[in-house]
Parts: sequence; C-alpha cells; structure tokens
Amino acid sequence: MTESVTNWAGNITYAAKELHRPRTLDALRALVAESSRVRALGSGHSFNEIAEAGEDGMLVSLGDLPARIDVDTTARTVRVGGGVRYAELARQVHRHGLALANMASLPHISVAGSVATGTHGSGVGNGPLASSVRAVELVTADGSTVTLERGDERFAGAVTSLGALGVVTALTLDLEPAFEVEQHVFTEMPLEGLDEAAFETVMASAYSVSLFTDWREPGFRQVWVKRRTDQPFTDLPPAAAATEKMHPVPGMPGVNCTEQFGVPGPWHERLPHFRAEFTPSSGAELQSEYLMPRRSAVAMLRALDGIRETVAPVLQTCEVRTVAADEQWLSPCHDRDSVAVHFTWIEDTRTVLPVVTRVEEALEPFDARPHWGKVFTTPAAVLHSRYPRLHDFRALVRDLDPEGTFTNAFVRNVLGD
Ligand SMILES: Cc1cc2nc3c(=O)[nH]c(=O)nc-3n(C[C@H](O)[C@H](O)[C@H](O)COP(=O)(O)OP(=O)(O)OC[C@H]3O[C@@H](n4cnc5c(N)ncnc54)[C@H](O)[C@@H]3O)c2cc1C
Repeated sequence: MTESVTNWAGNITYAAKELHRPRTLDALRALVAESSRVRALGSGHSFNEIAEAGEDGMLVSLGDLPARIDVDTTARTVRVGGGVRYAELARQVHRHGLALANMASLPHISVAGSVATGTHGSGVGNGPLASSVRAVELVTADGSTVTLERGDERFAGAVTSLGALGVVTALTLDLEPAFEVEQHVFTEMPLEGLDEAAFETVMASAYSVSLFTDWREPGFRQVWVKRRTDQPFTDLPPAAAATEKMHPVPGMPGVNCTEQFGVPGPWHERLPHFRAEFTPSSGAELQSEYLMPRRSAVAMLRALDGIRETVAPVLQTCEVRTVAADEQWLSPCHDRDSVAVHFTWIEDTRTVLPVVTRVEEALEPFDARPHWGKVFTTPAAVLHSRYPRLHDFRALVRDLDPEGTFTNAFVRNVLGD
C-alpha cells in the first residue's frame, strides 16, 4: 500500500514510501522483523520530523489493530492498545467509574504517541501523561515482544522514548476513582505586579490552571481554571470572570471548547480544552513549547515580555502551564517541577522559524527543554547538556535496538550519534 502521508498540521510530508497498517499483532511482528528501518506513526499530531522513517524506512500505523482497552476495576488500571486515542480511552475508563489523572488540551491524540514525546496537561501536582504509565509492551527489531514495567531499572527510559526502542503495542496505565471538574475562565490578568508568590498562588488555585496571552499586551488575556469538585475552593485569580464562552485563540468561537461557567462535569469532558466530538481535520498552525524550572516562571515571562513585539505578529496564542517533575530520563520535566510555555504560531514555517530561534535565545538563561513533538531549533549540543540521563537512554537504545532499526535522523540528533 503506497500513499503520501502528512502530519496533522500538514507541515511535514513523511518521506517513507509506504505506510503499513497491520491488522494483527502477528502481522506487525512479521513486518518489523523483515524491515531494517521502522518508525511508528501515532495520530500524527507532532509538528516536526520525530516520526519520520526516511525514504528507505517503513512507517507503521497501529490504527487498524484491534483497539484493545481492558479496564481492571480491582487493580484500578487499564491496558490500552498502541493505536488508541485518549478520547476513546477516557470514555471507556469513565464508564467503569474510573479516571485518568490528567489529559492534554486535545483528546484526539494517541496515547502511545503522546507519552513518547512527554505530552502533558497542567497542574502543579500533575506530572506529564507518561507518569501514569506502569508498563510498556514493545515489539523489538526481531519481532519479539519485550515488556518493561515500573520497578525495572530500565523503565525510566521506556515511556518517553521518542519511538526509539520499538513499536509500542500496549501500555498499562494507573487509574483513580472518577471525579468531576468545573471550568471557570477569567479575563485580563496583568503581568505587572505578578511575582513568584502570586504566580504560585494562581497556578496552585485549582487542579489544572492555564494562562493565555497573545503578547500584544504585557498580560494574560485569559486564565482557565479547572477545579475538581472534591477539592476545596482556594484563591481566584485577580481577573474578571468571562461573560461569554472563550476559545484560547482570541476571536475564535468557543463552541468547540469544553464546558465553561463552572458547570460541573466528568473529568474527561473538562480537563481537555477542546471537545472530543469536535473533529479537527487539519490545523492551520504550528506549535512550539519549552519547559523550564517552575521557580523561573516569572523571570521567564518577563524575558518573553521583552520580545513581545517580535513574537506577537506570528502568534495565535501562548499558553503557560505547570507540570510536576517526573523520572523519565527524556522527559522535558525530568527531575524538576516545571513551567511550560507553549506557542501556537501561524502556519507559515519560514516566517515562524526565526522567531522560534529568538524565543530560544530569550529562554536560554532558564535551561529550557523543548517539547519533543513541536517545532524547535535548539542545537543538539545544547539539548544534550539539558538531559543529565541522556547517556542512560543511549545505552538503553543500544541494548534494545543494537542495529538502530527504530532510529531516525531526529533520534540520532538527540542521541548525539
Ligand atoms: C492541536 C494539538 C494540541 C496539542 N496539545 C498538547 C498539549 O496539550 N500538551 C502537550 O504536551 N502536547 C500537545 N500537543 C502535542 C502532541 O501531544 C504530541 O505531538 C504527541 O506526540 C501527539 O501524539 P501522536 O500520536 O499524534 O504522535 P505522532 O506525532 O504520531 O508521533 C510522535 C512520536 O511518537 C512515536 N509513536 C507513536 N506511536 C507509537 C507507537 N505505537 N510505538 C512507538 N512509538 C510511537 C512516533 O514514532 C513519534 O516518535 C498537541 C498537538 C496538537 C496538534
């Protein structure tokens, strides 16, 4: 089967000549065993060449494998197939009265692809989505299956793995009892006067908090507060409640966004910003994101404010979130509670790239680690200096995939090969 495949945003056309869609695990194993270069493609929501297999490589989608979602209500875990997306998973989990700890802004992304790139939501107490993974099942280069579980010393390299260890055919995730969330949106919170303590107060005021700005003014146009109804009310942000349903991009209608105005609802219909029923076919946008130590948040925001006239003309919206530290060696929040600053750019790569580099220069003092699935220009040597356990990850890749079957140019750059 030959087809031209692009990512969701359409800015990347994968060079691989073929996209294979095996229907059984055995067919997948056989395909992998016969191939010298393989990359798995998830839902294609990354904005760079991370999933690229190259001209001589084979791109494989697990989208046609049976979409297994096996909930264990006693153990409070779910084993989920490698091609399943969060929207589908969340519905099934909720049906059993259980919940995932957190979700990203969009539920349409695949679970395996998301945890491979360190995808996250927000919340001072919430780690990235990978932190709920307790086991990873992989098809390795010879077609055999390897399972790495929490507790195994190699596990810290196995989840946020950039797809470099093998094809993930299943993941087991922790669950918790289902909970309800109410979402409130506030508008116009000034940057002036925001110090470290005030930033902490706002970001810790609820389970998940996001600040949005278009950097046209030195402040936040919107503050999205997602409060678990089983947790107490704390301080509200110093901003006025929105009077109409909001979209993170100023001027866009809020109709595709999850319920606001404090209407309580199930976790999976409030934690993402966008509704699962809304199907975005393609996105007229590019994205970049950087994660830095949370204690640097206010200094980092002031540094961005200093270049807002460069940033604003190519920006649709910028989101500031918090993510708790995790242990994955390649996680952008590895070993540090983080502030994440995300940019939704216009779709014009040539105009956007120099601004991305300018942003990276401004963030240089804050030891910024780019999101693996988004656009960045950070040089390899700088990346290497920001991941203290990179050597362990490199050793794990060599151990599980000595021939480099699952390595591509993106991964080689990260590994420093
Ligand atoms: C509109 C939009 C909103 C987003 N919101 C957020 C957000 O809120 N927070 C955030 O952190 N990020 C966000 N992202 C980024 C997104 O979560 C990541 O790019 C994520 O990797 C997407 O998952 P995917 O399945 O589409 O990955 P793909 O782009 O398909 O693949 C990413 C990587 O995962 C690997 N991979 C995929 N499946 C497998 C598998 N089965 N086995 C082995 N490797 C695999 C691929 O080889 C590749 O290396 C957003 C992106 C978009 C387009």
